[in-house]
Amino acid sequence: MTLPGLGTVAAAIFLWNGWYTATDLWLFAGMYFVHMAGITIGFHRYLAHKSFRTSRFFEGALMISGSMGGQGPIMYWVTTHRRHHRFSDREGDPHSPNLSGDGLGARLRGLWWAHMPWMLSDESSSWRFWAPDVLRDRRLFFYHRTYQLWLLLGLALPALIGFAVERTPMALLTGFLFGGLARMFLANQAAWCVGSLSHMIGGRPFDNGDRSANNWPVAIFTFGEGLQNNHHAFPGSYRHAVRPWEPDLSGWVLTGLGRLRVVWNLRQPDAAAIAARRARKRPAAEPGTN
Ligand SMILES: [Zn+2]
Ligand SMILES: [Zn+2]
Repeated sequence: MTLPGLGTVAAAIFLWNGWYTATDLWLFAGMYFVHMAGITIGFHRYLAHKSFRTSRFFEGALMISGSMGGQGPIMYWVTTHRRHHRFSDREGDPHSPNLSGDGLGARLRGLWWAHMPWMLSDESSSWRFWAPDVLRDRRLFFYHRTYQLWLLLGLALPALIGFAVERTPMALLTGFLFGGLARMFLANQAAWCVGSLSHMIGGRPFDNGDRSANNWPVAIFTFGEGLQNNHHAFPGSYRHAVRPWEPDLSGWVLTGLGRLRVVWNLRQPDAAAIAARRARKRPAAEPGTN
């Protein structure tokens, strides 16, 4: 994250001095969409939770877009994410903000840990145990092995598009800065708020026995992922919104793609299941869930 961080500072300086074109802003927005859709629709809802089915072609587009996000290769992403659901906010959760103790200092330390440093932990999740389905699928595993290539493509592509549109060497640099590095840094800061802020602050319509919360600002920037309380109640649903007004861009995109038959078998709970789940209260929180 050091290089994307520095790239973001550089992009801010360029922005301040007016050294950019409208193309750079479009590249930032376009690549942010590809990055976030790849992670949330591809890595998360498709791969980790199997919440819909699609063609091998669209599956490939999703895996490549997600890899451009720079959050690690698919096996790493899927195994840590499934472990997160299994142990949500208990010992074993790879990124819970709630395991550092009470008191403001400890809570802030937990929040920071769940945001970024957890990725530096040498703790690893067994592939065979957590993701045998992905491991067995040779075509899917191909995207794991070629991760670095897609990561670099995600940085090169906006530079090349910028150059093709503006036809100046400067556009090559600003496309790389805005659509590549700054996009990667800012989109990932938003994405990691899902594991940190959305497990601490927000509404809790469902009693999941953990600290998952529906955090609207995070949900807006992460295309619906900030609705963690809903998601932990219905992890297999392709939608994170259970009410039509909850911000869930990835869910809306999937609904549209379903109408176009690009994706199918979209799983979601019916109204009765949601009502029953809403009424269900856990008798007591399990140890460690405070
Ligand atoms: Zn969660
Ligand atoms: Zn999930």
